[in-house]
This record gives sequence, structure tokens and C-alpha cells, in this order.
Amino acid sequence: MRTPSDLAMPDELLQRLRNFHDDAFPQHRSHFRMLVDDGQHPTTLFIGCSDSRLVPYLLTGTGPGELFLVRNVGAFVPPYDGSAGFHGTAAAIEFAVLNLQVSRIIVCGHSHCGGIRALYGESHPAARNLAQWLELGREAALPVAEPGPEVLRRTEQRAVVLQLERLMDYPMVRERVEAQQLSLHGWHYVLEDGEVHVFDVLRGGFIPASSADNAGTGPYRRHEPDELQDTLDGSGVPISP
Ligand SMILES: [Zn+2]
Repeated sequence: MRTPSDLAMPDELLQRLRNFHDDAFPQHRSHFRMLVDDGQHPTTLFIGCSDSRLVPYLLTGTGPGELFLVRNVGAFVPPYDGSAGFHGTAAAIEFAVLNLQVSRIIVCGHSHCGGIRALYGESHPAARNLAQWLELGREAALPVAEPGPEVLRRTEQRAVVLQLERLMDYPMVRERVEAQQLSLHGWHYVLEDGEVHVFDVLRGGFIPASSADNAGTGPYRRHEPDELQDTLDGSGVPISP
């Protein structure tokens, strides 16, 4: 809650806006002019967790016009269930694929994810939307009451794979993946290491970017539920197909 002393403080946010306009924007003016004149043509849809420590532009070395971003708690993908409700993430997926014709979709979870941890605890009774939303990660949770760091990490990674599976239920995604016009990338970003672990479709596991030979591309293969369980419930290390 704001106090009288807060109100008396200089408006730092206003100052930041002025700094951007006066100092940063002039360095990018021509680039933004081009993006306005030619429109946006991002090649990548990035579905990431809302966590403030996940900074997609930093991770990928990208700038304005390159990533079409959707962020939500947990980096979840709602089911394509035909209900046509107020599904912001689903709408963004449809727009990115059908209108922008992106060639990549990245689903990026991360370590120390509060959304994933919340799968193992009680949510605030007033957070009815949040409780419902977290159900999109429920299948990734493991049957333990008190999850340790390893269980949480495995849950975070399993959740990423589940969202990729759900993406494949979007007809416009499936069609383009099968036609090799679109690739799906599952990423798990480890905040403390500054390293993304990419889901290697063929090896069925998460590989640190430093030793991976691709960013998670490759022919998409649907994992059967049992197989997914075996792959991600084991030691957590990649297995051969
Ligand atoms: Zn998170």
C-alpha cells in the first residue's frame, strides 16, 4: 500500500520513460522507423513464463521486431478445445502462426519457477483464475508431497514438454510442423547458470545449450505418455531414442 512518503518521492518510473525517449530511442530511431514502415515480421513466437528474471531478449540476443512474445504464469499453452473463450495465449498462437507465419515456436520455462512450485502447494483462496490456470501444468507434477530441487527441476522440464504436446493439438501448428514449415523448441532456462537447456526431440531429454548440437529443432515426434514418463522420470539425463 502506498504511503504519504511514497507519494512524496520523485516519480522514478516517469524519469525512466523520459530517459528512454531522450537517450535510448535516438539510437534505435531508424530501426523503429523501418519496423513501422514495413511492419513487423518476427520469425519466432516465444511463449515464456512471466517471471521477471526471464528476459527473452537477453537470452536470445534479439531486439525489436524479432520475437513475438506471449508470457503467462508457467509458460503454459491452453488446450485447443474449441471453446473460443477469452484465451489470450491461444489467440496469440493463432495470430503468430496464421498471420505472422512464424517459423519457430519456443516454449521457455525456467528454474525456481513459482508457477511450478505452486503445483505442490495451496494457492491463495482469492486467486481463482490462477488456481484454474495452474491446472495446465498439473500433469507434469510428480507424486511427492514435499518437492526438493531435483523434483522441481524435473517438473519444470516435464511441463515444457507437455506444452509442446498441447501445441501440436492446434491444427494450424500441427499442419505446419508436419510440413516442416514450423519447428517447436522446448527450453528450460537455469537462472543461476545463465544457460538454456534445450529439449532434444530425438534424444528425448534436455541438453545444456553449451553441449547441444541444435536449439531444439528437429522432426517433431509425439511421445507416448509412458515413454514421456520413462524419459523424464529417470535420471534426468538424456536417453537414446
Ligand atoms: Zn516461472
